[in-house]
Amino acid sequence: MDSCTLCPRRCGAQRTESTGHGFCRLPETMRIARIQPHLWEEPPISGSRGTGAVFFSGCTLRCAYCQNADISHRNLGRDFTPAQLAESLRRLVDAGMHSISFITATPYVEKILEALAIYRPPVPLVWNTSGYETVDTLHKLEGVIDVYLPDLKHFSPAMGKLCAQASDYFEATSAAITEMCRQTGAARYDENGLMQRGVIVRHLILPGLTSESIALLNWVKENLPAGTPVSLMRQYVPCNDVSIKGLDRTITTREYHRVRDHMQALELPGFQQEAASASTDFVPLFGQDESYI
Ligand code: SF4
Repeated sequence: MDSCTLCPRRCGAQRTESTGHGFCRLPETMRIARIQPHLWEEPPISGSRGTGAVFFSGCTLRCAYCQNADISHRNLGRDFTPAQLAESLRRLVDAGMHSISFITATPYVEKILEALAIYRPPVPLVWNTSGYETVDTLHKLEGVIDVYLPDLKHFSPAMGKLCAQASDYFEATSAAITEMCRQTGAARYDENGLMQRGVIVRHLILPGLTSESIALLNWVKENLPAGTPVSLMRQYVPCNDVSIKGLDRTITTREYHRVRDHMQALELPGFQQEAASASTDFVPLFGQDESYI
């Protein structure tokens, strides 16, 4: 690939089979850190048996506080061909997964489409993303991805820049989520409450930044179709030796209640997390033998 423009960074970088020269430093070959059943996504994704989670290595956003920095910043993982990924997807389906989740997969979109041409799992396909996507790349996924699970992290350009070197984060992500909703239409569930089509917007509350959370929830209310669920996450723990002032602690109960109460006042449907989720115990292990199904 001579000139990669798959994400909003639009580096125009060369990516060969073994080297990557863009912001993400990813080669063209798919690198994957973990392929496993995952029980802890939102209930309409994981259900009772789990989603088949494919954690791709690398990230186009690379938040300073990322809890998965071994894979997102340091690109830990193993190389996979499309045929090998197709085989893994088949094993996940054979293991009874309700859905398949492609997690931070944007730099590999072409290779994933090749894998799906070999084997298309007969369950909903979920695109789990930082939200930092281009509408052009999302067009490649139209008719392929059934459920989008984007983050919506930062409202102000200043926070996007400080946390992820992406002052255009909200501009790009709000356009991307609008496109995701256009593609899927209204949320649809099966008789067991598993999402078959739709968008779930995830928001992680950050310490000291509840006004950003409130601005983002207001945007969801005013701009996305009624009924779009929001997954409100309180699991922030300082990771990756984050050195940004104020991000060195978990959120307080008061901060969580302020944002949760606002979400309820807006009558946004969705999900909320237990306080116990703010622990590094929930950070999965990557790149080890047992990390692959
Ligand atoms: S996917 Fe990587 S190389 Fe391509 S535009 Fe984004 S950061 Fe740059």
